[in-house]
Amino acid sequence: MDFNELNGKIKSCTNCRLHKSRINSITGEGNFHAGIMIIAQAPGKDEDSIGKMFIGPSGKIFDRLLLNAGIRREDIYLTNLIKCYLPKCRRPSKNEIEQCSTYLDKEIEIIDPKLIVTLGFHATRYIFKKYNLNRPPKKEYKNLFGKQFYAKNRIIFPVRHPTAVLFNPEKEEILQENYNQIRKILS
Ligand code: SF4
Repeated sequence: MDFNELNGKIKSCTNCRLHKSRINSITGEGNFHAGIMIIAQAPGKDEDSIGKMFIGPSGKIFDRLLLNAGIRREDIYLTNLIKCYLPKCRRPSKNEIEQCSTYLDKEIEIIDPKLIVTLGFHATRYIFKKYNLNRPPKKEYKNLFGKQFYAKNRIIFPVRHPTAVLFNPEKEEILQENYNQIRKILS
């Protein structure tokens, strides 16, 4: 399966109940030959309306973190664990993750990135499960952020989701250090 076929399936997907409330399902974006894949949780309201990734308030923070780290959006591949908007930005259910992660698995297979950066709890938990990495209790996931893990031939690097900065601007400093570290891993 190539990206055209995969993205066509995502655009027309009705595999879980989120298809009823979405405007757009959001496919991955960026460089298909990138060494780095960044995995966010799910599209927000702005992304759902316009049909593009990370264009709302979190996206603005994400762009600033990339810019300050010297990473260009066109040099990364960016995607979500869940491809459709979660009403009221609620958490994804187990079933929604099971249904939708088949698309993410395919993206990882095609892109074959050296580095996978997971943004926030759900994307991190999914990737840790996929690669049989030790999964701590939920409240301890924050201890994984900013550390490198190794799975087969990949580096897994979990960081907080940029949304955290909207709730606590002081988190931006540590997130910026994480993004600077991403650039160093890639160089
Ligand atoms: S969230 Fe994923 S599985 Fe559910 S309808 Fe959207 S694309 Fe399909």
